[in-house]
Amino acid sequence: MAEVVIIGGGASGMAAAIAAAESGEHHVTLIERQARVGRKLLSTGNGRCNLTNLELKIENFHGENPAFAQYALSLWSPERVLEFFAELGLMTVTEYGGRVYPLSNQATSVLDVLRFGLEKPNISLLAGTGVESVRKKGKSFHISWEGGSMECDKLIVACGGCAGSKLGGVMDGYNILKSLGHSRTSLYPSLTQIRTKPEIPRSMKGVKVQAGVKAAKGKKLLAEGSGDLLFADNGVSGTVVFELSRTVAKAGEGCALDIDFFENMEKAAVKKYLFARKTARPMAPAREIFSGALHSRVGLALCKYVGINPESPCAELSPAIIDALASAAKALRLEVTGVSGFESAQVTAGGMATAEFNPKTMESKIVPSLYACGEVLDIDGDCGGYNLQWAWASGLLAGGSV
Ligand SMILES: Cc1cc2nc3c(=O)[nH]c(=O)nc-3n(C[C@H](O)[C@H](O)[C@H](O)COP(=O)(O)OP(=O)(O)OC[C@H]3O[C@@H](n4cnc5c(N)ncnc54)[C@H](O)[C@@H]3O)c2cc1C
Repeated sequence: MAEVVIIGGGASGMAAAIAAAESGEHHVTLIERQARVGRKLLSTGNGRCNLTNLELKIENFHGENPAFAQYALSLWSPERVLEFFAELGLMTVTEYGGRVYPLSNQATSVLDVLRFGLEKPNISLLAGTGVESVRKKGKSFHISWEGGSMECDKLIVACGGCAGSKLGGVMDGYNILKSLGHSRTSLYPSLTQIRTKPEIPRSMKGVKVQAGVKAAKGKKLLAEGSGDLLFADNGVSGTVVFELSRTVAKAGEGCALDIDFFENMEKAAVKKYLFARKTARPMAPAREIFSGALHSRVGLALCKYVGINPESPCAELSPAIIDALASAAKALRLEVTGVSGFESAQVTAGGMATAEFNPKTMESKIVPSLYACGEVLDIDGDCGGYNLQWAWASGLLAGGSV
C-alpha cells in the first residue's frame, strides 16, 4: 500500500484525504497543526459556512493565471461538490446569488460530515502536529515535526494561506513548497476591511447600507461593485468592500472609495427628491432631508460632508447646496489609508505559482509525486462561497489524482 501524506486538515486537505482513500489502494495520513481539523471552517460564513456557489464563473477567481483553476472547477463543479457532500449526509439550501449553506445553518454540520468521511480504516489522523520540514529522499518524502517524522510516497500540501491567522492561517505551506523548489507570487490580504480616514465612517459606525462603491486611484477607476456596506471605526467592510479589497491592496497608496447611496437613481432624480422634501418640510432641520430614504446618521454625515449646519432649516438650503447634497449621496468620497491585514482577511490573494503545477492533477511539475491544493496556490475567489469551492475542487482533484 502506498503511503499518502496530506499536510493540513482544513477544507482542501480533508477533501483530498477522502478522495485519496476512496480507492482503498493507499493509506492516507492527514497531518494537522492545530488540535482539531477544520477549525477555520467553523468560522466561515459567519458560522454558517457558505460552502459553494451555484452561479460560479471563472471570472469569480483571481491570481496570475485564473484559467489554471478551470479544469478542477469543471470536474468538481459546485453541483458535483454538493453531490459529494450529499453522499456524506449533508443537506443544503441555496440562497440569493447562488450561495449554498448547510440546511442546519451551522458550519459544524459541514465539518461533522467531513469528519465522518475521514473515519476509514485507511485514513489516520495526526492532529496537534505541525510539520516543520519536508525533504525529498529518493522517490519518497521525509516529513518531520517536533518529536517525530515519517516517510511517504506521495505528498499533498494543503496548508492554506496566511489569511485568518487567529484561525490558523500561517506561512508554513509556502515555506514547505519553497523548500522543495517552488516559487511564490506576492501575497495580499483579500476579502477584508478597507481602512479609510476615520471621521466620516466613524460617524456612521454600525450602520449597514446597500450601496454601489467605486474604487479609484486619482482619476483612474480601479474596480466597482454593489452590495452590503458596513461603516466601522476606521473604515468600511461588508461584501462589496471585501470584493474591492484585493484591488485596493494591490493598488497601494492614493486610493479612494466613492459610495453611491442611490444606486438605482440618477443624480437628477435625487435632486428632485431633495427639492420636494425641502418644499414639503421647510422648517425641518437639514439633517432630516434624507429621512425617508437613508439612515438618519447617513443624512447627518452627508450634511457635514458638504459643510452645512445639520440643524439649519431646509428652507435655507440653496439650489447649490441641494446639488452638493445630491452629489455627495451619489459619490461620498472616503480617502483610503490601507486594508486590514492578514489577521482579519478571509483569504490570501497570491500564493504558489500555478505555472509550476499541472492543472489536471495538481501535481508539481518540479517534484514528481508532490501535489498542492487550496489557498496555498495562487488562486483566490470572490466573496460568496468561491474560496471553499476552490478548496473542495482542488482538494478532491489532488486526492483523486494520487
Ligand atoms: C473568517 C473567515 C470566513 C470565511 N468564510 C468563507 C465562506 O463563507 N465561504 C468561502 O468560500 N470561503 C470562506 N473563507 C475562506 C475559506 O475558509 C478558505 O479559503 C479555505 O478554508 C481554504 O482552504 P484550505 O484547505 O486551502 O486552507 P485552510 O482551510 O486554512 O486549512 C489549512 C490547514 O492547514 C493547517 N496547517 C498549516 N500549516 C501546517 C503545518 N505546518 N502542519 C500541519 N498542518 C498545517 C492549518 O492549521 C489549517 O487547518 C473564510 C475565511 C475566513 C478566515
